[in-house]
Amino acid sequence: MREKQRDLVIIGGGPAGLAAAVKAWNLGIKSISLIDESERLGGLLPQCIHPGFGLHYFREDLTGPEFAARLIERLRETGVEVLSGAHAAQIEVEPGGLKKVYGYRYGEAFKIGSKAIIYAAGCRERTRFEAGILGDRPSGVYTAGEAQTLMDIYGILPGKEIVIVGSGDVGLIMARRFALEGARVKGVVEMMPYPGGLMRNIVQCLEDFAIPLYLSHIVAEIKGSRKVESVKIAKVDDKLSPVEGSSFEIKCDAVILAVGLKPRTEILARAGALIDDATGGPIVNDWLETTIPGVFAAGNVLVVNDLVDYAAEQGEWAAESAFKFISEGDLPRSGVKRLIRGRNVRLIVPQLVSCLRDVVFYGRVSVPEEDVAIRFEEVGKVFRLPAVRPPEMFRIKISASDLSMLGGEKLTVNIVRV
Ligand SMILES: Cc1cc2nc3c(=O)[nH]c(=O)nc-3n(C[C@H](O)[C@H](O)[C@H](O)COP(=O)(O)OP(=O)(O)OC[C@H]3O[C@@H](n4cnc5c(N)ncnc54)[C@H](O)[C@@H]3O)c2cc1C
Repeated sequence: MREKQRDLVIIGGGPAGLAAAVKAWNLGIKSISLIDESERLGGLLPQCIHPGFGLHYFREDLTGPEFAARLIERLRETGVEVLSGAHAAQIEVEPGGLKKVYGYRYGEAFKIGSKAIIYAAGCRERTRFEAGILGDRPSGVYTAGEAQTLMDIYGILPGKEIVIVGSGDVGLIMARRFALEGARVKGVVEMMPYPGGLMRNIVQCLEDFAIPLYLSHIVAEIKGSRKVESVKIAKVDDKLSPVEGSSFEIKCDAVILAVGLKPRTEILARAGALIDDATGGPIVNDWLETTIPGVFAAGNVLVVNDLVDYAAEQGEWAAESAFKFISEGDLPRSGVKRLIRGRNVRLIVPQLVSCLRDVVFYGRVSVPEEDVAIRFEEVGKVFRLPAVRPPEMFRIKISASDLSMLGGEKLTVNIVRV
């Protein structure tokens, strides 16, 4: 097996991994390998041809491919070794702390020893079975990502009469794309009583195209012997149980599943990193270091981000931490406090804080509320917000000097009405 040594290995060449690679190189780490299983760098971005990327990171409204191209251009100015078409299969940590990444590329196994790793493997889409959709197994059922790849990379429309499951931003954006391509979108079906995506997307992607939104409904069954023929829709009550006698059928030839994303943590979990049930990603401290010292996480594998800008920001943050870890041999480890998810806080990262540095917290709420404040109780910091909604991530920065006021073991975050 071919083996080489590096100071830093980055797994994942999406926006988080690319931003991490560029930052790490510019900070002075000159021995870096970037591994991506795809032949094309950019992660999810090359297939997202709509605008809405980069308003924070590049201060410009770019399409996905444009955002990726900017980062790839910056990467080309560095000496980072890019291993595309390479799958990282396993991470091992030796007793002395040296990490090994095992994988394969073009049928050949490889092994790279490294002082630190940034894990930026993104997320995967949930399947119909994870969403509890029963029925036949005909062709014509696609995840949103598969449908997007078919359309935007290969120019194939997945169907003429389409039903979309899930009203998050991905489902909404896909609805508009299909409509623009000439398909009839017969409905977007959402289990919750409120839409999962941003209000602007409800208006621009559904209302502008007269696409019906079925809130508090589920697709209970897919029907069709060879190809999808119809879906059976049912209303659900406030406990999300189907309401008797409420079902009806919609004829369609394709079903698109936009039923959520799951961080791709398998390799990390196998290596021993602790996973947070709330985010589905690894538990990290405020260096974005997982519970394996010297292994950092960034982007959608850490937490499913609304915005690519946050994924890239986390990539840079992980690179700064990896630089400190490599150049100083370790990171400060005493006095770490735990974040406690209080009222209406569904998830928050990082989950641990050292109180030695400024920290950006990314979080989501469980239910929508208006006129609220996010309170970081033990440090007395309060941030007023006109509204919070589950699909909209909040991003709040707290300075090291504020965090240094934290005496006890924990920092509790509550959403309170004001
Ligand atoms: C339909 C859709 C619309 C979106 N619209 C917007 C928008 O309008 N605005 C916006 O800001 N954001 C949008 N996003 C979100 C944005 O695309 C993501 O936040 C961003 O791509 C996440 O970056 P990432 O680097 O964490 O992950 P990814 O982009 O998923 O990249 C992860 C990379 O890791 C690689 N990888 C995974 N496992 C391995 C392994 N074991 N070995 C080697 N390589 C591996 C993958 O091949 C992939 O290239 C949208 C996303 C989708 C799906």
